[in-house]
Amino acid sequence: MSQNFRQILPGSTIGVLGSGQLGRMFAIAARRMGYRVHTFSPESDTPTGQVADVEINASYQDLDAVREFARGVSVVTFEFENVPAITAQTAAEFAPVRPDGMVLHTTQHRLREKTFLAAHGLPVTPFKKIQNLTDLQTGLKEMGCPAVLKTAGYGYDGKGQIRIASPEEAEPAFGSVPQQEMVLETFVDFQCEVSVVGARGLRGNFAHWGVIENSHRNHILDVSVAPANIPEGVASQAVEITRTVLEKLDVTGLLCVEFFLTRSGDLLINELAPRPHNSGHLTFDACVTSQFEQQLRAVCGLPLGSTEMLRPAAMANLLGMLWQGGEPNWAAACALPGVKLHLYGKLAPKPGRKMGHLTALAETAAKASQLVRAARAALVDGR
Ligand code: AMP
Repeated sequence: MSQNFRQILPGSTIGVLGSGQLGRMFAIAARRMGYRVHTFSPESDTPTGQVADVEINASYQDLDAVREFARGVSVVTFEFENVPAITAQTAAEFAPVRPDGMVLHTTQHRLREKTFLAAHGLPVTPFKKIQNLTDLQTGLKEMGCPAVLKTAGYGYDGKGQIRIASPEEAEPAFGSVPQQEMVLETFVDFQCEVSVVGARGLRGNFAHWGVIENSHRNHILDVSVAPANIPEGVASQAVEITRTVLEKLDVTGLLCVEFFLTRSGDLLINELAPRPHNSGHLTFDACVTSQFEQQLRAVCGLPLGSTEMLRPAAMANLLGMLWQGGEPNWAAACALPGVKLHLYGKLAPKPGRKMGHLTALAETAAKASQLVRAARAALVDGR
């Protein structure tokens, strides 16, 4: 389907599988350019649905509903990669799916993803397939401790993973994760984590926003800062790896590569996300073309937009625990010049749930980082 170079122009309807904040920001970008958006997910009154023209509320396995959805749109993209392969396949009978189902198939399973990367000579955290306790014990002997055991499928934000500090922890660790195929990885003592969001158009043209530096709290992204404070040579290596990943996977759309930068200065790929990424949210306010508009341009076969960064920027996630002492003080954050507030329209602020984010723009990345943290602190201090 991706060999079809026909441009999908403003006025057309775009289908989005998934209905979270990534789809919401995509829909905002798409509507701004005169497109219509239909979103499909098992939920209702969703972050994407609140902004879309049509919100379809059906199971991903309801293939009749998937057919009807795909018949009504010019192209299907997604904001959530864990949709079943059959959903993407079924949609592809009626409209191009971009990126295509093979990209989903590879990236929604850690083992397939890592095997793919290693087969193409790309640097990936050392790993082993684990199917039973004996595999785990052998794996720990070979790879050493500490290590991380992760479920192979459907994991995100640290869900379904456990750190193993010593061989004695093998048995309890094995019992604590869902019994399915797993991956054992070396625990990387990194100096920092970085990401590159790449975009690839229908004719293979490539764009990126440079390297973004990420810090996590409880395995969930906390703050992203751009440009990353890393040597230029490492930054261009990260971009080249990202370009190669998009080419080898033949992506039409967006894909984010998350890396560990080791203390010896080597890049290791941690994981791939075949869609806009949380670390790229700052492009919404800081760049000529955001990651969301670029996803739209890529899947519609339009020229990719300039990724120029107007000012250094930082983004801080707003998780549900911020609401624990009552409604955050929005006015306090909005009072700070250079700070932008994004909320996703989610009603229930559960502790680890991503409810929104703040972006700060400043003369330097370090100042943007300070400002965004101060703005987030003001949400609770001034309450
Ligand atoms: P993931 O869901 O695999 O992206 O993991 C979420 C976060 O957990 C990562 O961004 C890291 O901060 C941490 N993490 C995951 N795997 C490893 C590893 N092998 N070594 C060190 N930290 C890790």
